[in-house]
Amino acid sequence: MSDMRYLPRAALSGLIDAIRDAGYRVIGPREETGQGGLVYREIDGVEDLPQGLHDRQEPGSYRLEKTGSPRYFAWANTASAIKPFVYAPREKLWRVVHKEGRIHFEPVERDAAKTAILGVRACDLAALELQDAHFLRGKFVDPYYKARREKLLLVAVNCSHAAATCFCASTGDGPEVSTGYDILLDELEDGYLLRVGSTRGAMIVADLPLQAATQGHLEAALAQSEACRAQQRVLPGEKDLARLGEQLESARWTKVAERCLSCGNCTAVCPTCFCHRELEVPALDGKSSEHWRDADSCFSEDHSYIVGEVVRHGTRERYRQWMTHKLFNWVPQYGRIGCTGCGRCTTWCPVGIDFVAEANIVLGLAEAPEPELPHVDGSEAAQ
Ligand code: SF4
Ligand code: SF4
Repeated sequence: MSDMRYLPRAALSGLIDAIRDAGYRVIGPREETGQGGLVYREIDGVEDLPQGLHDRQEPGSYRLEKTGSPRYFAWANTASAIKPFVYAPREKLWRVVHKEGRIHFEPVERDAAKTAILGVRACDLAALELQDAHFLRGKFVDPYYKARREKLLLVAVNCSHAAATCFCASTGDGPEVSTGYDILLDELEDGYLLRVGSTRGAMIVADLPLQAATQGHLEAALAQSEACRAQQRVLPGEKDLARLGEQLESARWTKVAERCLSCGNCTAVCPTCFCHRELEVPALDGKSSEHWRDADSCFSEDHSYIVGEVVRHGTRERYRQWMTHKLFNWVPQYGRIGCTGCGRCTTWCPVGIDFVAEANIVLGLAEAPEPELPHVDGSEAAQ
């Protein structure tokens, strides 16, 4: 317990000030006015945090409820992940200029602001690790991602409860944060159990009024994590997921496609998805052109356009691609599944398609629920 300290709740504003004094802009969870959800946005202080708010999530539904609790972090996860702070949904990669009879390639500015994110959950930290594997540890390093990633300070918070859509325990990513943080908090009744995970984190908390953590603080934090784990649903295990490749002709894909809108919401909110397209935007005078990267989705028809052919014509093929890539094909690519159990794809699916339930059904581990939800003809909606 020597590395654990206790921060009284009244001193949380001091932590935010110390982060800002170290030169970081501070991003935290805040209620998006008129949107009914929590999102990560820049905050000025504790007054912007969602004090006394609790999220209720179900397939196709996200609601915030007032609890009257003094807690700031008594929610399971935000609508948007921390992904946009490292992987920009729209980004200019370079510019080409035609001058003096030659083509000149001009790089864009890659400098990034020092950014601290407060309240990061285990599922999102694990997703960041997956994105690091793709953007930083592959054959090519993405300089745009790298510039932002190097300036990121992460203040994680262990979850104290799970939403009905959460399953990070069964992907091995939560509910406790184990690595990848600069500072880690467990929110308790009157304050925070605090751990430091980096030299930067140690410097930031150095002047805070930290107290010695007690056995009682530790036990309270462990009890919260255990309760959170017990509330979660369960994704099929490794051995069962390894059978997904044998289910490519399952009749269940057709059934899901009758409801799926091919809207791509699930991929937009997923903290691990990084599919994109690249496009050229020429200036009207013909003298220059900009090269952009836009986030894309395996649910877009054009995303499977390969050498003159769209290879995933219908919603059935696109939903199958989404699930089998996440839960099966990521393993040979990145050494683990591409899902960290945040549950956002289920919560934010407009027709409430349940990712865990569908995986169980496709693998023959559960029966399809009766009655089915109303059907929507996905193939027409995707046109
Ligand atoms: S697949 Fe769904 S549950 Fe898994 S990380 Fe992506 S959004 Fe979260
Ligand atoms: S599964 Fe849901 S969120 Fe994903 S594309 Fe289909 S309708 Fe949209």
